[in-house]
Amino acid sequence: MRQLLLSALLVISTDLCAAQTIAASDQSFSSIVQLQQKKWIHGSEDCASNKDPAIDVYRYDQSSYILRQNKCLSYEAPFMYVLFGEEKVLVLDTGATESESEFPLYQTVRSLIDQQSAQDGNTERELLVLHTHGHSDHFKGDSQFAGKPNVTIVNPDADSIVQFFGFSNWPEGEARVELGGRALTVFPTPGHQEEALSVYDPHTKWLLTGDTFYPGYIYVKVWKDYRNSIARLAAFSATHEVDAVLGSHIEMMNKAGKYYTIGTIYQPDEASLVLSPEQLAALNSRLSKLKRPKKVKEDGFIVAPMSFFQKKLSNMVRWINN
Ligand SMILES: [Zn+2]
Ligand SMILES: [Zn+2]
Repeated sequence: MRQLLLSALLVISTDLCAAQTIAASDQSFSSIVQLQQKKWIHGSEDCASNKDPAIDVYRYDQSSYILRQNKCLSYEAPFMYVLFGEEKVLVLDTGATESESEFPLYQTVRSLIDQQSAQDGNTERELLVLHTHGHSDHFKGDSQFAGKPNVTIVNPDADSIVQFFGFSNWPEGEARVELGGRALTVFPTPGHQEEALSVYDPHTKWLLTGDTFYPGYIYVKVWKDYRNSIARLAAFSATHEVDAVLGSHIEMMNKAGKYYTIGTIYQPDEASLVLSPEQLAALNSRLSKLKRPKKVKEDGFIVAPMSFFQKKLSNMVRWINN
């Protein structure tokens, strides 16, 4: 029973689970090192006395931000990305909490936009909300953006994604999202979840992989799709400049192969958010040699197939969400 409950918990978690022309940054290397070393807010032993903000806002450069939700609001503590172009601002994922008073994501993004407008005089930017995938720890904040002026939200379901991006042969192909002087590449990477997407930003040279690849214990629902997605990501990063592979959670500890178990609300010794193209290539190599779904353990991440029961439960949550 305990095992059953734990399995249920595991699945619920995976299912809850600039107006200036943007010049290439010649400080990109030092910024990546700073990002690698960044200590995020990481929860608390006693959340009742936790004084950290609901959202940790990290300014990578004048047009690129990484946000992390406080673990005391959700143990998932997902990361979200805010990228400015001349015409649009992308918000990639909206976190695990709906309530604006507890988790003021829209207000936070709005203040970043206002700051930018005050600097460059551009008050016309549209706000585009996209998602790495359709697990609810990545779209709960959508309701805060809904109905606000100049906002487009692309729901993380198959129909909305195909319609917006124009994918005609899912999961093959890629789409471009033009923010204005900043053209992102978006491509399907299903496996962890059916409609998962990854995003490449040529300005920061970030490959944003959501829950498909991050420093944690990654559950895979459809193994064959996942293996193909990782092969596609590895091939992409071998042929493009990728300085950092960034996902949506940190679950690994700062000790090789060790991780915080699901539901952990305090991670004082967590690993860096930043993974490398080499780690992606290593995963691709491991997966390509496996004849059947099997747990893969590396120092910086673990990949494991969902059990039959976990998949059933995932399908149930998916059906309820739709
Ligand atoms: Zn997640
Ligand atoms: Zn997920």
